[in-house]
Amino acid sequence: MLDEVQRAVRATAVPGKVATSIPALAGADPEGFGFAVAGLHRGEEVQGVGDWEVPFSVQSVSKVFTLALVLAADGDALWRLVGKEPSGSPFNSLAQLEREGGIPRNPFVNAGALIVTDRLQTLTGDASGALRAFLRTESGNPALDFDPRISRSEHQHAHRNAALANLLADYGRLDNPVPLVLDQYIRQCSLAMSCRDLALAARFLAHHGVCADGSRLLTRSEAKRINAVMLIGGTYDAAGEFAHRVGLPAKSGIGGGILAVVPGRCAVCAWGPALDGHGNSVAAITALDHFTTYTGWSVF
Ligand code: GLN
Repeated sequence: MLDEVQRAVRATAVPGKVATSIPALAGADPEGFGFAVAGLHRGEEVQGVGDWEVPFSVQSVSKVFTLALVLAADGDALWRLVGKEPSGSPFNSLAQLEREGGIPRNPFVNAGALIVTDRLQTLTGDASGALRAFLRTESGNPALDFDPRISRSEHQHAHRNAALANLLADYGRLDNPVPLVLDQYIRQCSLAMSCRDLALAARFLAHHGVCADGSRLLTRSEAKRINAVMLIGGTYDAAGEFAHRVGLPAKSGIGGGILAVVPGRCAVCAWGPALDGHGNSVAAITALDHFTTYTGWSVF
């Protein structure tokens, strides 16, 4: 099945463009491709194909994990500050935030993710450190880390995210100072992880909230809700098209990764740096499309 997916991706001309909004991302090889599947049960091996063990910049894929940590520590309180609706606008829209009185549409648009990071900072005192510790444990990779080259580059071009954070602060939505929230957010986005790491780390979402060691991070209902929000907003304003084509909850990032969840079965990560106009990886969508068509696995 993995070979089949890889063949399908290689056979499809990939018309996307590598992200340039963070200049350090622009050097990624547009031909790069990786795909990994991690099953739920102890000893069930993670398997992959292509560059599946090559680390890439996770960017917005990190947002699904910060959301999980905040819900785990703080329950439903977050939903007073952030919506659960599809965005219908680009992920970094300022206009939408202003029009809607400072309540971001969902936790995966940048404004919503800044609030989640702010909450995690308040709850842990070190949002990105807590995130890294969690991901190291769940992926079984103690070496996974931030990429300072990427975070430095994003810091130099973070004007729009700074504007969003300032607008949120003006609405009284942040506990912590804007520079700290922005720094923590940029750091979490700069994590370098492979398809293997991400698929392993996301198994708790397929396992109804239960972590690799059998402990429970989230209630069954919380895990279901994260998957629901991934479905409606994990691939931004293309979530409808993605649900139509792939049929799984997923979260994308402009580093070219897309993480997808097959509830009760496995977590999957596909990567390819060339993006479509919504900021989603063309190769990863193609791979996941073939994967769900081939296996028949879908939430529908
Ligand atoms: N760090 C990026 C940003 O905030 C993440 C965007 C993304 O991956 N969609 O612009």
